[in-house]
Amino acid sequence: MLNIVLFGPPGAGKGTQSVKLIEKYNLVHLSTGDILRAEVGAKTTLGLQAKAIMDAGNLVSDDIVIGMIENKLDQNKNAKGFIFDGFPRTTAQAEALDVLLNKKNSSITKMLALQVPDEELISRLLLRGKESGRADDASQEVIANRIKTYNDLTAPLIGYYRNQNKFTGINGVGSIDEIFNRLCEAIGY
Ligand code: AMP
Repeated sequence: MLNIVLFGPPGAGKGTQSVKLIEKYNLVHLSTGDILRAEVGAKTTLGLQAKAIMDAGNLVSDDIVIGMIENKLDQNKNAKGFIFDGFPRTTAQAEALDVLLNKKNSSITKMLALQVPDEELISRLLLRGKESGRADDASQEVIANRIKTYNDLTAPLIGYYRNQNKFTGINGVGSIDEIFNRLCEAIGY
């Protein structure tokens, strides 16, 4: 299996690049942000609980997102591999993912980390907020909180995957195709 953690701060381009990677490598895209937004849209109990947390730019609890990923792995038993987009975001999530994949006699192949300067992230997110109406992209304060949450809770995962010799940094500035080519080179085929 080819299991890629596509990593990076909010606005790094994970969603855009995931769409291209799943097509080229025939993988299943697992985005916890997309799953949560679908729950919010459907006004499920989980969606109603998660909405305020997401709108403030904070993280939904580890148990909830780990449970969502477990369900998706079970629903895609014959997948050739997965792109994890926006998950894991905490050390507890990364450890849980290793356990879930281990149960399937599988593991993370690589963590590819898109690197983009903060000023560029902020302008990309504000533009996305205008175009998509995503509430958590609309305000400077919420964006700043998401970047802080990334730096405090999520960036330490670089060390987690570096210790497993799985980390590769990717320059996330450039055209969509340039960045995609860098990702494919890092995957190696
Ligand atoms: P994203 O689309 O990945 O930027 O996620 C949007 C929001 O959903 C985040 O700001 C969090 O509130 C929530 N979220 C998405 N993925 C996770 C995760 N793995 N752990 C906790 N919260 C998450």
